[in-house]
Amino acid sequence: MLAPDPLLGLRSWGVAPAGLLAGAVLCVAGWALYVRARLNGRDSRRQARFAEEELKAYVDLLPIGVLTIDPRGALVLCNRSAPGLLGIDREDLQAVAWCSPEFAIIDANGDGLEPEELPWNKALATGRRVPGDVVGIERMDTGDWSWLSVTAQPRCDGDGVLVEVICTLEDVTQQKTAEAELTLQHLRDSLTSLPSRALFMERLSRAILRSDRRKFFSAVLFLDLDRFKVVNDSLSHEAGDKLLIQVASRLRGCLRPEDTVARLGGDEFAVLFEDITSVNDGLQVAERISHSLATPFNINGQEVFTTCSMGIAISSSSETLSAELLRDAEVAMYRAKAKGEGSLEIFDPSMNAKALARFQMEGELRRALDRGEFILHYQPVVGLGTGRIEGFEALVRWNHPERGMVPPLDFIPLAEETGLIVPLGKWVLEEACRQAGAWNRAFPADPPRLMNVNISARQFQHKDLIPTVLDALRAADMAPGTLKLEITESIMMRDPLASLEAMKTFKSLDIHLVIDDFGTGYSSLSYLKRFPVDTLKVDKSFVDGLGKDPESTAIVTAIISLARSLGMRVTAEGIETNDQMEHLQKLACDQGQGYHFARPLDRDRAEELLARDPRW
Ligand code: C2E
Ligand code: MG
Ligand code: MG
Repeated sequence: MLAPDPLLGLRSWGVAPAGLLAGAVLCVAGWALYVRARLNGRDSRRQARFAEEELKAYVDLLPIGVLTIDPRGALVLCNRSAPGLLGIDREDLQAVAWCSPEFAIIDANGDGLEPEELPWNKALATGRRVPGDVVGIERMDTGDWSWLSVTAQPRCDGDGVLVEVICTLEDVTQQKTAEAELTLQHLRDSLTSLPSRALFMERLSRAILRSDRRKFFSAVLFLDLDRFKVVNDSLSHEAGDKLLIQVASRLRGCLRPEDTVARLGGDEFAVLFEDITSVNDGLQVAERISHSLATPFNINGQEVFTTCSMGIAISSSSETLSAELLRDAEVAMYRAKAKGEGSLEIFDPSMNAKALARFQMEGELRRALDRGEFILHYQPVVGLGTGRIEGFEALVRWNHPERGMVPPLDFIPLAEETGLIVPLGKWVLEEACRQAGAWNRAFPADPPRLMNVNISARQFQHKDLIPTVLDALRAADMAPGTLKLEITESIMMRDPLASLEAMKTFKSLDIHLVIDDFGTGYSSLSYLKRFPVDTLKVDKSFVDGLGKDPESTAIVTAIISLARSLGMRVTAEGIETNDQMEHLQKLACDQGQGYHFARPLDRDRAEELLARDPRW
């Protein structure tokens, strides 16, 4: 048997990584041969000790790591470089159970390795050499990844029994990082740093596969800036680039963390939504995007406006191909573009109509507030004893540029759902208070006329309601005692204790409270007693049947007597006939409201009425 030549390893030192590796392997082979010789008992003890120390010194000098592991996974030997490569102390290295180490080990693709896939375990299991598996090992010290090329060489004793596996660990972190950077360049758009088309397609295919398993949908939103060419041509390409960078950043801000937005090229972007339950999830993001892009961009000190055309396509099954889905979204985007700037189309025609109407309405509703498209109409509240106007109820309308006057029930629910009711309700409060203040100065009355304002559920729960009301009163120079807030039973009963607190605050500020549509919701009488409510407003549905249908008559009678016993006043709404009015007068109902007196009127017509000061 050949004597080991440990110098071989050193001769190759510093030549080239391949040479180095060869040197290392030979050196290790020499070591192995030595150990075998010792086991065979051919050398004297002294010689063996000398050779062992010499070899250890050589192996320790190697810049690659060397470990030998026995079949139980225990470390037999390691050289000086090994702990540094793994970011672990020599003693801790000794304690590692190499058959199943506790630190994470991944393959070159970043997938975690099972114990049986580890190079030394493969060599132990098969008895065959495993040459240069590249693995990432999580460093114990920094938590970074050490990328190592691991060669595992099994070694048997003279009887052919596998006694250990000798592993060499070569640090390839630098190469791996350079490779990753190259890949990253391919996967990222260099201008915006967003994922590139390649990365988008890769994520899309995975999402489609996953969504089928999880019974969710994946959707793609294809987005193209309108008139980007104009910016590029009229300003400069550099300005165009800046716009794209800013658009990318706003898009990112509109998405959930799990969504992917990519730049496909030019002024085209795509968004991948994973795990959505309906097209509405995608539509909400689309609305956020169009809202976000509506704010002008500042490019080199100049305001630049842009809108975008969007198309959405949804995967119906795992059979959908990612390229098809992207193409469908693009087709939808072109259809949107044809409709006009800032439009959206959904690829699936069956989903289109309803979803689009909602989307359109939501966008318009947002803009309507800035554009001043809301107006208030005022319906007189008449004292049934005096026959005179004792106040007004402010009722909002949307003066839509194409659809004309839109009634509140057509947009309040959507405003409520989207949270737009908060700024809208604030505007209503401010405008109604401003008007009430102005009328009370122009047409004084004793006692002063009251202004009723409807408050929605979301508004009532909003922490800013009290300061908003106080600000509106102050700005209008209006006495708190002349404002009445209308809330429905269901709003109060949603969280009775919180409602009670808010109502007590209003009461202490001398602001009146009305329960609107009384009798249609669910109220607990015990709460009703505790709520500091001034007025119950009998719902129109009961007033309709007054005198005709005994049940309605009984209900109205009961509500009036309930209010009396609780010390509250009663207003009847929806009075359309003289009979209804007389019936309510007989029941000693305090106030009435309805077409019999006047419909909700615009400001000018309400003013005419005030000037006339009619008696009914
Ligand atoms: P509401 O507060 O119960 O208002 C009464 C509704 O009945 C008003 O409808 C009014 O025009 C209508 N009305 C009044 N008298 C008669 C009558 O004699 N016959 C008939 N058929 N109807 C009558 P409008 O203006 O369409 O408002 C509907 C609802 O929209 C309101 O019901 C209120 O819940 C809500 N709303 C209106 N303005 C606002 C607002 O500024 N904020 C909030 N949160 N909701 C509002
Ligand atoms: Mg009302
Ligand atoms: Mg009502």
